Amino acid sequence: MNIERKLNKAQKTFKTWKAVPFKEKQQALKKLAKLLDDESEKLGKVITKEMNKPISQSIAEIKKCALMVRYYAEAENILQPEKIKTEFRVSEIHYVPKGVILGVMPWNFPFWQVLRFAVPAILAGNTVVLKHASICFGSGNEIEKLFLKAGFPKGVFQNLEIGHAEVKTVLENPIVQGVSLTGSEKAGAEVASIAGKNIKKSLLELGGSDGFIVLDDADFQKAAEAGASSRLLNCGQACNAAKRFIIQKNVEKEFMPVFVKEYQKFVAGDPLKKKTNMAGMARADLADDLEKQYNKALKNGAEIILPLERISDNEFVPGLIKVKAGNPILQEELFGPLGMVMIAKDDEHALKLANDIPFGLSDSVWTKDKKRQQFFIENLESGSVSINKGSSSDPRLPFGGAKSSGYGTELSMVALKEFVNVKTVVGN
Ligand code: NAP
Repeated sequence: MNIERKLNKAQKTFKTWKAVPFKEKQQALKKLAKLLDDESEKLGKVITKEMNKPISQSIAEIKKCALMVRYYAEAENILQPEKIKTEFRVSEIHYVPKGVILGVMPWNFPFWQVLRFAVPAILAGNTVVLKHASICFGSGNEIEKLFLKAGFPKGVFQNLEIGHAEVKTVLENPIVQGVSLTGSEKAGAEVASIAGKNIKKSLLELGGSDGFIVLDDADFQKAAEAGASSRLLNCGQACNAAKRFIIQKNVEKEFMPVFVKEYQKFVAGDPLKKKTNMAGMARADLADDLEKQYNKALKNGAEIILPLERISDNEFVPGLIKVKAGNPILQEELFGPLGMVMIAKDDEHALKLANDIPFGLSDSVWTKDKKRQQFFIENLESGSVSINKGSSSDPRLPFGGAKSSGYGTELSMVALKEFVNVKTVVGN
């Protein structure tokens, strides 16, 4: 089916889908969650084959999708008209779905990113068309099949299989009412400017360079384990991975050997073997980019703690470098198995280092002291702060960025209201 026909189909389906009762929509979501659970092994293989994620992590991604879909399948209907007390006989807030929404999605979590955007948008009454990353069209097609198998009408979710040059035409089409993009700052800025020019809503989930702050009263073993896996799961290709380890100076000598030991447990292997904890990056050109960034960091004074060693087109022995404030590499996101260590004199200095970047996605702070925790909670410029745990997303809690990490909210009940128009109904 060509794009125009798919958009027409999405619009036609929207007219009936928006009128389907919330509870009925949730019944279909229940079926979708079950299918994801039942087919997690098969769907996990689709992910691994497309972008090299170790199979155990791919299966975990599908199971997490099932959990999220079930969360919305059981959610309270917060989109019912709200009555407001005024002098008028009727005064109400109505939440009206916008229509056809475009999702532009990345390859790093090929099911999770798509579903976490699409499910609340669809439950709110919208229909969705997807432009997936070019290496993930197989995942996009599987997701479309799952929606149909779960009993959603044709046209509620459609995969477009288009290149990124075609996004502009789709977004400019009057049928499309909004866009949600998860990806790089560059793609986000381009797509949001097209949306803005056409007065259409946009939601952006972009990159990050999250701080992982370890203070002198932290549980070092737990912090080291969480920090290493946060940096290296999915071969370091997660937006909310810990990318800058900010360590208090007086415990550097004690913490670093524990951390390095955990870091070295990640070894590249066959992504289809269940024991593999790290595999190659998704594409060889991304590995080239990471190597260039590594050399740029070194050229600007970074010191090697563990060298980043390329062992094939797309595989590395993970690297760790010590970086000082002012190194231009700090302005960039390292999207692969390379971590940065920074040393802070005290809490104020740790905060300054953490905030001194263009991004603001999700920081993590390790201290047992409630007052110190509060200081960071209040002052970190990011979409989320995790205390004594690595950053993660949870269907029950909002996910979104500050600064160049984007705007808008995914997950939680908040996401249900992202693609609706708020209509006031008032009179006698
Ligand atoms: P990307 O290159 O920006 O691609 C993301 C999507 O945008 C793909 O579908 C891509 O299509 C499309 N795209 C790229 N350039 C475009 C343009 N000029 N106009 C319209 N569409 C365009 O990002 P990626 O390499 O796939 O993903 C990695 C980035 O995503 C990282 O920065 C990561 O931090 C971020 N991310 C953020 C979150 C979050 O929740 N904040 C979650 C995951 C990932 P093609 O594949 O056809 O180029």
